[in-house]
Amino acid sequence: MSGRDTSTAGERAYWDAELETRSRDDWARLKLELLQRHLQHAYQGSPYYRTVWDAAGVHPGQVRTLDDIRRFPFIDKSILRERQLAVPPLGDLLAVPERDVVYISASSGSTGVPTASPFTARDFDDWIDYEARQFWSSGLRPDDRYCHSLNFSLFVGGPCVLGAQKLGALCIHAGTVPSERLLAIIRQFQATAIWTTPSYAWYLGETAQKEGIDPRRDLSIKRIFVAGEPGGSIPETRNRIEALWGASVYDYYGLSDIFGACAGMCEEKNGLHWAEDHILTEVIDPDTGEQVAEGGRGELVLTTLKKSARPMVRFRTGDIVSFTSERCACGRTSERLLGVHGRLDDMLIIKGVNIFPSDVEAIARKEPNLTGEYRLVVERINHLDQLTVEVEKAAGFQGADADLQHHFARRLKSVTGVTAAVNILAPDTLPRATHKAKRVEDRRTGVWTA
Ligand SMILES: [Zn+2]
Repeated sequence: MSGRDTSTAGERAYWDAELETRSRDDWARLKLELLQRHLQHAYQGSPYYRTVWDAAGVHPGQVRTLDDIRRFPFIDKSILRERQLAVPPLGDLLAVPERDVVYISASSGSTGVPTASPFTARDFDDWIDYEARQFWSSGLRPDDRYCHSLNFSLFVGGPCVLGAQKLGALCIHAGTVPSERLLAIIRQFQATAIWTTPSYAWYLGETAQKEGIDPRRDLSIKRIFVAGEPGGSIPETRNRIEALWGASVYDYYGLSDIFGACAGMCEEKNGLHWAEDHILTEVIDPDTGEQVAEGGRGELVLTTLKKSARPMVRFRTGDIVSFTSERCACGRTSERLLGVHGRLDDMLIIKGVNIFPSDVEAIARKEPNLTGEYRLVVERINHLDQLTVEVEKAAGFQGADADLQHHFARRLKSVTGVTAAVNILAPDTLPRATHKAKRVEDRRTGVWTA
């Protein structure tokens, strides 16, 4: 799959047609074969897996169907962190000699010690080939000019640019520079594609407008790849960014502990095509650990199928997602991530009802009389949780605030089941995010999240 000649790939519909359009049965066969081999590799190479699986009485040789993965114990971020500290510097989930490791990415460390994700040379090539395949499905082509505004650093998003380069696009490694500088680079080189967070795409577009640049008329961006926040899978958020830029927005999903992007949108934008030949997915009820039926919301659990340096077997991501395995209109047959509805850590429970900030975002972005910015404040008043949603009215709104307030509260109640107080603010009151937005203030704990 790697090392293909992209110079003649200009007209093809798929990066790897044989792989991407195979039947669901063929996917299952391929995944089982990869899983069996990968678990053997993990058992033989990683002291951690050998010890824990022996203690649990499970062995790779017992795996005869994909469902047999459920016999194996979960791992999570705290285990990665603990094992890395116990066996520095890379931990004992490492399943290859350290001399075979050529690259590490690391998580941002916002929740504690950053954990390193090691790659062998082969792991790295496999990953970049996958990024090229994914970019191709989103319509990026060799005649595009792709501006990458992430640093090539410990952050796993950095090297994703190499996928665009492998595909044959002209890649502009802009790095993280101030917005004015980035706009100048986009303008000078007439970039046709960029990668950013949804919040930053919005911020950058507004910054351009404030400088008298109309992103639709004065810039040549046609494709915006977004990742890092739930907003990208919310159609209302994408629609607003698309209207601001006159460009098409594609949502991507990645994990610092595995890959830069594990899934991304094709031109149909009906869910994110999953890297099914690299990562096996499960969706579980976070409380019971039981599997959730296809289409239902639950916590995403991942098992790598190829990444040999540090196999991840049943890694609990903390992300609440849903999937479909129906064939996409683009002809690709891989399962699709229908949305990242939020992180378990971000889920708010208000009077017994679960609500994610992304639920509120979808409603706020759909209402033309609002700017789309929002903030949630949760507090406990007389032993009861009270949610207040702050939204901004649009600049040209002429009606009564009270009407807007009632309308929004009613929509919120009917969509989420939560009764909330709604505050209508003047336009431009809420702080604009430049990276990952913090939109929840939980006064019960004093923590800012999501
Ligand atoms: Zn598709």
